[in-house]
Amino acid sequence: MIAKKTQQILDGLDELFPDAHCELVHRNSYEMAVAVVLSAQTTDASVNKVTPGLFEQFPDAAALASGDIRQIEHCIASLGLYHNKAKAIQGMAQGIHERFHDEVPDTMDDLVSLPGVGRKCANVILSECYGIPSLAVDTHVDRISKRLRLADPDDTVYQVEQKLRKKIPEERWIKTHHQMIFFGRYLCHARNPECARCPFVSICKEKNKNL
Ligand code: SF4
Repeated sequence: MIAKKTQQILDGLDELFPDAHCELVHRNSYEMAVAVVLSAQTTDASVNKVTPGLFEQFPDAAALASGDIRQIEHCIASLGLYHNKAKAIQGMAQGIHERFHDEVPDTMDDLVSLPGVGRKCANVILSECYGIPSLAVDTHVDRISKRLRLADPDDTVYQVEQKLRKKIPEERWIKTHHQMIFFGRYLCHARNPECARCPFVSICKEKNKNL
């Protein structure tokens, strides 16, 4: 049964962000997989600026797999770490092309076997591309879970994910993931969270900083 505090958080998130959704622009699973790998340590808005040009030149996994690495770097040069990211998306595309017949896989094990794809990216791909209930823990979800005492301060991202999976009903995982990201992005910022308009003051570990 869902705990009262968890229910309060889910209800509050529903009120704040009823339409939370993935903000990485994509038209298919290949584009989603590339965009999510590129989104590491940068904003979705920055990724959305480079992906239209990238996908025009490299429209599918086969094209990206055999693409000129300097041309790939050129397309994503406005992102930080673009050398490594170019290598990562090309390695991932080669794996998709050579081992999965140009189809982005739909299981955790297959996804994390691809270069550049960690558990967080795999969870995003599973939920966004295939509608498979998943809970990706990024920097926002990690921070919010700890502030709202859904996880402990020293928990690893894997432990946070496991705790969220136990506390939140499976049919809510995808929606809650998006809502927690919106909450972290637009209200409970890492620095200077807007506590005065937060519905979770009574639960939060860090409320006093700003009230
Ligand atoms: S009270 Fe402040 S720090 Fe706590 S969850 Fe709300 S916005 Fe975040």
